[in-house]
Amino acid sequence: MRKFESLAEIELLPGYLSKVKRGEFQFLRIYGWYQFKDRLRCSLADCGTPHNRGYVVMLIPQATTKIGNVCGKRIFGEAFTAASNEFERGLAIKRTLDAISATLAGAPQLEVKIAELMDRARGARWLRRAQISLARVCSNDVYQRLMDRVLRRNAEIVKIRHRTDGDPPALDGSHSGFLTEVIAVFHGLKGLAPPEPIQVLNEHVLRPIREFLEFSPEEIFRNSSKYKYYRTWERDLAGHLDAVEQKLRQAEIFFTTPNLRNLQYLATRNDDRITLSRLQWNEQTGLVKGS
Ligand SMILES: [Zn+2]
Repeated sequence: MRKFESLAEIELLPGYLSKVKRGEFQFLRIYGWYQFKDRLRCSLADCGTPHNRGYVVMLIPQATTKIGNVCGKRIFGEAFTAASNEFERGLAIKRTLDAISATLAGAPQLEVKIAELMDRARGARWLRRAQISLARVCSNDVYQRLMDRVLRRNAEIVKIRHRTDGDPPALDGSHSGFLTEVIAVFHGLKGLAPPEPIQVLNEHVLRPIREFLEFSPEEIFRNSSKYKYYRTWERDLAGHLDAVEQKLRQAEIFFTTPNLRNLQYLATRNDDRITLSRLQWNEQTGLVKGS
């Protein structure tokens, strides 16, 4: 499956013919292929159609030439069609195996990238610690309400109250009925959304590549369930890393003293409310501090 990089390389082949007369030769087999930026003229004497991609073929009696797909089929018929189909299948497999090899060869860089996302100052491990410190200072019901908001992406804390004369009138012009008022907004809620970055990095990025590294590209490709798993993993890889980056950025926005103190609005008990209104974000430790 030799790939030729220049016309000169093809011309060096033993028995190379730059012009082939129709009917003088029979097709033997495909020897290699080429794809050039410049178009070449078809080697068939009476054709000369320019093309970029084609095959180097061996002929009977012994000779070598180059030919495009269309002319190959027209001149040599079924034998050529079958050979070129088979050849293209082989090329496609080789391309796939090369791509798997390249991905596996990138594993060390990927591990470095993951370690950075895990261990940096505001990385995935920090987020886990911060979130544990948060859960510790909240009562169960407040934490639950917060997580509900995370899942529903409901950042606004609203209060419903009676409309008064001081408020703009309702659509019907009346000053009665109820008003919904936003009293606080949580920022960076998305940073707390499951799955946790630490879990994404471990389960969706790290564990799979370590598994794949135990096999050769060939073994991965030949095992249909493994290959399917590999392809899904590879397709989603950039997305997973991106999602982790985004969540970590959002988490930094979430963990601030004013934002944490918004938790008081989720409390139902007074003592709870007071405790939460005094929460502090400790920038040095990267943890939530109760009073
Ligand atoms: Zn031609």
